[in-house]
Amino acid sequence: MTGKQIRLVVDDERCQGHNRCRLLAPDLIEIDDLGFAHAKGDGRVPPEQSEKARLAVKNCPEFALRLETDD
Ligand code: SF4
Repeated sequence: MTGKQIRLVVDDERCQGHNRCRLLAPDLIEIDDLGFAHAKGDGRVPPEQSEKARLAVKNCPEFALRLETDD
């Protein structure tokens, strides 16, 4: 049985560009020219990256990151 696909989502209105998430999950987050975070690609989190994704979510001081599950 396979787990559900999770996606990392950045709330553009909350992100203040601390880049903490990028340090914690460099394979999942990219930073734009203004210093704000965006999920790489379509935000899909490979199973082996799920702990890093959760860590990034927990450590965002602006609560700008969340994980969504594909139905
Ligand atoms: S840690 Fe949060 S506020 Fe900072 S860049 Fe990442 S998403 Fe944005």
